[in-house]
Amino acid sequence: MDVPKKITCVDCGQPAYRLTYPPEDGWVVGDYVAYRCSGCNDRWDLIVNEEDAAEQPPSSLSIADEARAILQSRIDQQRPNDSN
Ligand SMILES: [Zn+2]
Repeated sequence: MDVPKKITCVDCGQPAYRLTYPPEDGWVVGDYVAYRCSGCNDRWDLIVNEEDAAEQPPSSLSIADEARAILQSRIDQQRPNDSN
């Protein structure tokens, strides 16, 4: 399984580089991977999960979920207008 050498820091948007060396047998689900952000110097400890292990990109189901969330937020925004 592959683990990215670089991720994007969610705090500052700068690249965060992997600190942890790959195990001899390769990464497995449950392994800890540490990253150090080149921008804010934050350390990120991530756990390799099933999603990383999957070779397929996220299915269309997640896109449908996202669309549903956007729709729901629009409904929520409209609610105050209805009560006025
Ligand atoms: Zn950062």
